[in-house]
Amino acid sequence: MIEEKLIKKFEKNIIFNENLSKYSWFNLGGPAKIFFKPSDEIQIKEFLKEVKELNKKIFVIGAGSNTLFRDKGLKGLAIKLGSNFSYIKKNGETEIEVGAATLDKKVSNFTKENSITGFEFLSCIPGSIGGAIIMNSGCYGQEISQILESLKIMDFNGDIKEISKADIEFYYRGTNLPKNVIILSAKFKGRKELNSKIENLQNNFIQKKKKDQPSRVKTCGSTFKNPKGEKAWQLIRKTGSDKFVVGDAQISEQHSNFFVNNGKAKASDIEGLINKVKKNVLEKSGVTLSLEIKIIGDK
Ligand SMILES: Cc1cc2nc3c(=O)[nH]c(=O)nc-3n(C[C@H](O)[C@H](O)[C@H](O)COP(=O)(O)OP(=O)(O)OC[C@H]3O[C@@H](n4cnc5c(N)ncnc54)[C@H](O)[C@@H]3O)c2cc1C
Repeated sequence: MIEEKLIKKFEKNIIFNENLSKYSWFNLGGPAKIFFKPSDEIQIKEFLKEVKELNKKIFVIGAGSNTLFRDKGLKGLAIKLGSNFSYIKKNGETEIEVGAATLDKKVSNFTKENSITGFEFLSCIPGSIGGAIIMNSGCYGQEISQILESLKIMDFNGDIKEISKADIEFYYRGTNLPKNVIILSAKFKGRKELNSKIENLQNNFIQKKKKDQPSRVKTCGSTFKNPKGEKAWQLIRKTGSDKFVVGDAQISEQHSNFFVNNGKAKASDIEGLINKVKKNVLEKSGVTLSLEIKIIGDK
């Protein structure tokens, strides 16, 4: 009944039992019962109204570069912002407004072309702006919160509001934003700089990344957060956990905090490996590692 209603209203933007593996960098995960790819804000509002009676959990998918979906998938609802949410507008000499589905790399290139500095590090993060804000993503001493000015969000009741950065608490790989929000867009401010200097900085970051981290592998980057004063990769290596293998899941030789699907792993192999490493690190070093990646779906 609800299914017919949703199809009638949203047509091709609604998919039932959509396989989530194609929306995660691990390339793993079962189906989402209801998968919605809205074209605009009005559609999201209407969708939230229609599905309210189902009382199901809602998960917003960005570029999936930090999310492991479990093999059983999601009984709840998945929302992935459509291509209309991928845009960059110049609002002033050093200010931009960016749709939440825009890839970080595009923002980095756009600001380079417009001689705005502060966004170079985004060329090294393979996610979307929505995901980068939720994760307060960053590298090489920079974080997205440093350039953010404000956010436009919609809560799961369909109410839209603008929040200034001053009203959000950002910390290492997280924020205090409520769980039940969809980031629609964000405003950023950088500084004027010579195009050539920006290009140099961006290239330095890209080269550094290439040296430090594996590429062309099925991974979601750093699995665990760095505990205070320590590096997760060092703890993993020091305790000999980097040699662990579960099914076709293993740890990258180049970076021992990067967990990898070698091609035939199941999501449960990755999760099994995570648990095994966590236990061993705790037993051998006394440190409890906490996850940076999000593990989503039914057990
Ligand atoms: C090779 C590799 C290298 C990486 N290097 C780094 C690095 O240097 N630094 C770093 O910080 N991270 C790094 N990451 C991790 C990852 O890229 C970041 O966390 C990224 O910002 C996640 O963005 P995403 O769009 O892929 O988020 P997703 O994985 O899709 O989602 C992450 C979280 O954000 C939420 N979310 C996404 N979009 C929205 C939205 N519009 N509204 C509300 N919630 C939303 C999701 O619900 C989820 O909770 C790396 C990952 C890989 C694969």
